[in-house]
Amino acid sequence: MEKWDGSAGTSAFHMPEWMIQFADQKQEFNKRPTKISRRSLSRSISQSSTDSYSSAASYTDSSDDETSPRDKQQKNSKGSSDFCVKNIKQAEFGRREIEIAEQEMPALMALRKRAQGEKPLAGAKIVGCTHITAQTAVLMETLGALGAQCRWAACNIYSTLNEVAAALAESGFPVFAWKGESEDDFWWCIDRCVNVEGWQPNMILDDGGDLTHWIYKKYPNMFKKIKGIVEESVTGVHRLYQLSKAGKLCVPAMNVNDSVTKQKFDNLYCCRESILDGLKRTTDMMFGGKQVVVCGYGEVGKGCCAALKAMGSIVYVTEIDPICALQACMDGFRLVKLNEVIRQVDIVITCTAPQPSVLKGNKNVVTREHLDRMKNSCIVCNMGHSNTEIDVASLRTPELTWERVRSQVDHVIWPDGKRIVLLAEGRLLNLSCSTVPTFVLSITATTQALALIELYNAPEGRYKQDVYLLPKKMDEYVASLHLPTFDAHLTELTDEQAKYLGLNKNGPFKPNYYRY
Ligand code: NAD
Repeated sequence: MEKWDGSAGTSAFHMPEWMIQFADQKQEFNKRPTKISRRSLSRSISQSSTDSYSSAASYTDSSDDETSPRDKQQKNSKGSSDFCVKNIKQAEFGRREIEIAEQEMPALMALRKRAQGEKPLAGAKIVGCTHITAQTAVLMETLGALGAQCRWAACNIYSTLNEVAAALAESGFPVFAWKGESEDDFWWCIDRCVNVEGWQPNMILDDGGDLTHWIYKKYPNMFKKIKGIVEESVTGVHRLYQLSKAGKLCVPAMNVNDSVTKQKFDNLYCCRESILDGLKRTTDMMFGGKQVVVCGYGEVGKGCCAALKAMGSIVYVTEIDPICALQACMDGFRLVKLNEVIRQVDIVITCTAPQPSVLKGNKNVVTREHLDRMKNSCIVCNMGHSNTEIDVASLRTPELTWERVRSQVDHVIWPDGKRIVLLAEGRLLNLSCSTVPTFVLSITATTQALALIELYNAPEGRYKQDVYLLPKKMDEYVASLHLPTFDAHLTELTDEQAKYLGLNKNGPFKPNYYRY
């Protein structure tokens, strides 16, 4: 049996062997991620994290209460006032949301069970800045069960579920967040998490890099006690690489964003489900028989195409890369140029990616010329990284009329009466208009929890002041924790087979360059 620090011990908590072996794989972690976006270090609030996902649906409406939570005196039932949420009385609603989320987050629940008796995060003081949703609550309560103390703020001013924040505050988590924070509130909440008498964080869990940035700017001395940073988002990871390149990163950091399971689940499986959800919620459309063109046949494009094909849509694909183009053909999609189908299609979806070296999303994949040629009622939306893929700015001309017909749905009307239906003003459709399946968030949350455990327990010297990608064994472990949900039975290598293949029976099973 092993302990969380990798040393042999008598613990009943079986830590997987792979955790001990991180040091051996270090040289492979330091690769740059393939998908990063540019974001300035001095940022405005409008940029607070939008490149990770929250599944935010609020069931209690507190919009009639205009008092700022900062001006309210609130206490939870145990008398603590170390939190700031919209309304502590909503805690019961939030608890129900958390219980629903728990059912789709099997790996975290399994980690909680495994941690009974052993607390791999005992003594950890984690300051977090993520979307505050039911799924985050399951993560936080898991970290608590593993022995950590947590203080939390929101990484996005709109995404907090007030009732969930209330439920967390009621169960004793110092949470500082509410939906609709101002820019000043946003930084105030972060500050309330770190600037506390008698409490200093030793781990950071960040989503977007704002919390890390704040500590760098205001409390650089805190890094003397901080053992590591776990960062979830594309943007935050990019900022960490910038710090590392400038020689200013003073603790080890884990890039959770680029782990294989996260990429696969966020890009392929999440989009396969949420493209239909986003289109349905905004337009109530029927998919059967509709002609759709999907621009880009990477992971996101493949997910969108598969879902629409399964619903009976006629799907066309555009690609610039012959390999992805051939994949589209082999999967039974007609590969076309956008011009060839633009007059006939009912839906246009962009899913093009940033080129790894360019640090930007592709631009003007759908131009004003394409928009001019679309047929009446054509739906136009984006599932890719940024809002530059559709040239939305070109539609802001005097001869075109914009009509907001629903939240996130605009009709853009030409002088002859033709109208196109633009969703989420060209921003990510699923992020703006649908929820993200909890199971997808479970993968990320589990990876975050394991990355925190690893960094917190790593012996001195295992990690340097650098950004590390998660080793394949950790990815494999995250996946394996989710398999029991499906009553899936994994085959084990025999000793003979393991020897024959030159593999450890416990993994990793694939080389790092394997693409899945
Ligand atoms: P990917 O690199 O696997 O695929 C993108 C594809 O677009 C590539 O095959 C590329 O050749 C193609 N492409 C680039 N320019 C093109 C053009 N002008 N016309 C046609 N094809 C073009 O990337 P991915 O994993 O599919 O991700 C796509 C984008 O979606 C990324 O920017 C990613 O950040 C974002 N993303 C969105 C979600 C979501 O929930 N909506 C989830 C994950 C990722």
